Amino acid sequence: MKVTEHLKYAKGTLLSYEILPPLKGRNIQSIYDHLDPLMEFKPSWINVTYHRSETFLRAKGDGNFEKIVTRKRPGTVGICSAIMNHYKTDAVPHLICGGFSKGETEEALIDLNFLGINNVLALRGDAAKGETMFMPHKDGHRYAVELVKQVVDLNRGKYLDTEIRDGEHTDFCIGVAGYPERHFECATLETDLQHLKAKVEMGAEYIMTQMFFDNQKYFDFVETCRSMGITVPIIPGLKPLTKKKQLTTIPKIFNLQLPEALAREMKNAADDAAVEQIGIEWLVQQCRELKAYGVPVLHFYTLGKPSVIRRVVEQIF
Ligand code: FAD
Repeated sequence: MKVTEHLKYAKGTLLSYEILPPLKGRNIQSIYDHLDPLMEFKPSWINVTYHRSETFLRAKGDGNFEKIVTRKRPGTVGICSAIMNHYKTDAVPHLICGGFSKGETEEALIDLNFLGINNVLALRGDAAKGETMFMPHKDGHRYAVELVKQVVDLNRGKYLDTEIRDGEHTDFCIGVAGYPERHFECATLETDLQHLKAKVEMGAEYIMTQMFFDNQKYFDFVETCRSMGITVPIIPGLKPLTKKKQLTTIPKIFNLQLPEALAREMKNAADDAAVEQIGIEWLVQQCRELKAYGVPVLHFYTLGKPSVIRRVVEQIF
């Protein structure tokens, strides 16, 4: 089922998760081990991230190095298919522009269509390691809005090398990313929201947000979006803090502010277990307030922490 259909038929707040493909070399069992403890809460769908290739220097043993360009976490399409078959739960693959040509993207979309996967979260991706700013693939897209257009075209039966063909089209439900605290490259939130609006006008049917730790930022974001005529559902993305070092890494990586009260409590925590407990309690409070506000879905970034997510979700669902 499409994300939009889940939302349409929902009888209350829905639950969804995001996972990462395992590092290359691991097998699908590592995905099942990650998800098994979380499945009893009946997520409506599971997002699977997409990753660009990275460049490494490998010692050749003779004092020289060779350049290796490879993806550390491939497998998004296959993992989505495995999730759908194993758990009978919908999967939402992410697709990114960075590192991929339009032709490669079209092939990924055709594969997804063959596998009966009709959801996609369309993203730009970040700059490659070693680059200071995002550089598009020479035959690829510069912004997510162009990727949204490619998917919309395919839904109309327009492949890269053809005009519209009757009867031969995909049927993807398209989501895009939104940033309650502004995307870090954009000078103002207002301009960033104009770009978000362009993605929706191009055909995106819902917005999935970057994580935030202050619900007011989400409420303000929704209100501003609505005032600008962005009417699609806005799904909050959520994550628990579990380590003191995240007090500096998370704001930097994700361009967000941590509420002072949360930062203070975590700084004063006696040990790792206390830090984790504070992170869990904070997120539970966030979820309760968001649920009361009437959000359509609570979407959890599970990263490497299924046991912590479980301790949150069991208090909410
Ligand atoms: P865009 O919408 O293209 O925006 C990027 C920047 O360009 C913004 O500052 C925007 O304001 C600006 N912009 C947009 N259009 C224009 C225009 N026409 N002219 C000038 N400026 C413009 N990354 C991954 O690599 N893999 C993933 O699986 C992944 N999943 C994610 C899931 C979610 C829910 C979120 C929030 C992020 C995810 N990311 C992922 C990270 C994402 O790729 C980065 O945040 C990236 O830097 C921006 O992606 P975007 O789709 O928002 O880009």
